[in-house]
Amino acid sequence: MNNIKQKAFDIIKERRDYAHYIANLNQQNLEKDKEYAQLKKELALLTLDIAKDQAGIIKLAKVASAKKRAKEVPKLLSARKKELGLESEINYFCKNCSDTGLINNEMCQCLKRELSKLLMQSSNIKDVEIYCFSKIKMPKDVSKIHKDSLQKLYDGLKNYAENFPNSNKTKLTISSGTGTGKTYAVKVLANNLINKGFYVVYTTAFGLNEMLLKHRTTFSPEKDKYIEGFFQSDMLIIDDLGTEPNLNNVTLEYLYQILNERLEQNKHTIITTNLDALVLRDRYEERIHSRLFCKENATYVVIKGEDLRARV
Ligand SMILES: [Zn+2]
Repeated sequence: MNNIKQKAFDIIKERRDYAHYIANLNQQNLEKDKEYAQLKKELALLTLDIAKDQAGIIKLAKVASAKKRAKEVPKLLSARKKELGLESEINYFCKNCSDTGLINNEMCQCLKRELSKLLMQSSNIKDVEIYCFSKIKMPKDVSKIHKDSLQKLYDGLKNYAENFPNSNKTKLTISSGTGTGKTYAVKVLANNLINKGFYVVYTTAFGLNEMLLKHRTTFSPEKDKYIEGFFQSDMLIIDDLGTEPNLNNVTLEYLYQILNERLEQNKHTIITTNLDALVLRDRYEERIHSRLFCKENATYVVIKGEDLRARV
């Protein structure tokens, strides 16, 4: 994940360089303007004369009017800048971090947003514009019970997104058969949160497993790049838990650590799965199960419906 983080930093740096470039260019063009240059020269002379007068080196004939003029000239300079449309102040894209990507060593929202976008792309979420609450179309010819439970899920997710991250319910497990619409639903949520600047990691359980294996089998100090997003993101979405191969219990071991640390740090996690709660407990052990389903902060949603993908 480090490469992606570096890419996000590079985007922010490009913005910073651009802001500086424009500010420099404006300054250079300003200096070429005769009126501006004249005023600047006048101000420098006035300031010097007033200082000399105060130090007793010279005696200015009209001190009061010189001081008055020294106050006027800066205003005239800014007016001239405006008139020419050449603001020399640096116009950063993000005013909060001055395009450094960091505030007190923490990631700024602008960096998180870029990071999420890149992660989204690398997670195979294409066509992000279709993953939008306003573009959800309910399937028409499905059972009422399926439609109702999907509608309930979308309403719940929308409400969740509006209040994010201010909810004590930080775990959500969505369970249903294949092709009932839960992947689409969590991608809509992911996209919504990313657009608000949150650091979201979406991964299939298969992709998660791959990264965990890479981390396990890499012997380089940089190996944490494979898994840091699973721990650090504001929202982690693991899609289709249960479809990944469980090699040497790698998933079990890491998944516990990931869920436990996220729980301790109050970070949000969403799991979708084709398995029901009991099967999940058998497959992922009690300690993982208890972190997914603890009453105080977990929500469990079941979509009752038929496979939408199997439809013609
Ligand atoms: Zn920023």
